[in-house]
Amino acid sequence: MSFSSQVKQELLRIQPEKHCCMLAELSALTQAAGSLRLSGGGKVQVVYETENPALAKRIFLLLKRRMEITPQLEFNRHKRLGGRRLSILTVSEGDARRLLIALRMLQESESGTVFKGVPRAAMTRRCCRAAFVRAAFLGGGSMTAPDQEYHLEFTSSPSRSEALMKMLEKSGIESRLTQRRDTDVVYIRRGDDVVNCLALMGAHRALMEMENIRIGRDARNQANRARNCDEANLKKQLSTGERQAQAIVRYSLAHSLSALPDELQEIGRIRMLHPEVSLEELGQMLPKPIGKSGANHRMRRLMRLIEIDQRQDGDQYHDNADAGFVGCHAPEPDPD
Ligand SMILES: [Zn+2]
Repeated sequence: MSFSSQVKQELLRIQPEKHCCMLAELSALTQAAGSLRLSGGGKVQVVYETENPALAKRIFLLLKRRMEITPQLEFNRHKRLGGRRLSILTVSEGDARRLLIALRMLQESESGTVFKGVPRAAMTRRCCRAAFVRAAFLGGGSMTAPDQEYHLEFTSSPSRSEALMKMLEKSGIESRLTQRRDTDVVYIRRGDDVVNCLALMGAHRALMEMENIRIGRDARNQANRARNCDEANLKKQLSTGERQAQAIVRYSLAHSLSALPDELQEIGRIRMLHPEVSLEELGQMLPKPIGKSGANHRMRRLMRLIEIDQRQDGDQYHDNADAGFVGCHAPEPDPD
């Protein structure tokens, strides 16, 4: 079973108890799974279509309990759905008008009737927001398994997406909007927002499952960060070793290592041959192996000598330049 189906199965077990929440849920389900069928003379029916029999049952019971409407129920095998059975609920003309007005979805104006809006409570009460978002997910939501990526979305009619996004925002959930074919898609991508949305809808099992995955992923990320850090240190070590080797090569070309104390000659020669090894390993490569701190001490002595020598070289160069300047006499005037 897909993760989406698991979440939906969990959400279907939650029954709205309060009248306000039932209306909020009906509103979301009507917008997600319902459509208006216009019959002559401005008469209108509301038709719900869903492949999910459990969802059809839920809509049926909500209409009955909250609105005292008994919709007509039929089943249809749909070619488009590969022969799967489609549940169709039809709310007849008189009831449809009453339902749409209760849902604040039918607004009559000079240009005719408009099919939009959400019950005010869905915007203002947390219980109703939860019911609305839950029903929006049941009617048109899906969620990627969190071990693949964090992604929860609602397909939505353009008239509904703004209200849905506002409701999510009021619950501290950041969502974005995109278009896919003719429909709007409101989607959530940040892990914290997906978790908060599952919590808002009441999908606590899915939430726990996602948190377990997130904890595992965080631990892995931490291990990766530690490994990257080790690699960075390794790089640093390499570049230090290389820098030392280069300095020793330069020094040995200018002078000779043999003028140095034996213990510095030894470590210098090995460093030139092995710029990649750590000081500890370097110490072990000496004719008489020494520990890390010993190797460190010798290498520092060697480097200090080379540094002093370089500085003297620089001074020498400087002195020569000065001398050259001082020794430069103005040209003698022509005898003529
Ligand atoms: Zn409520």
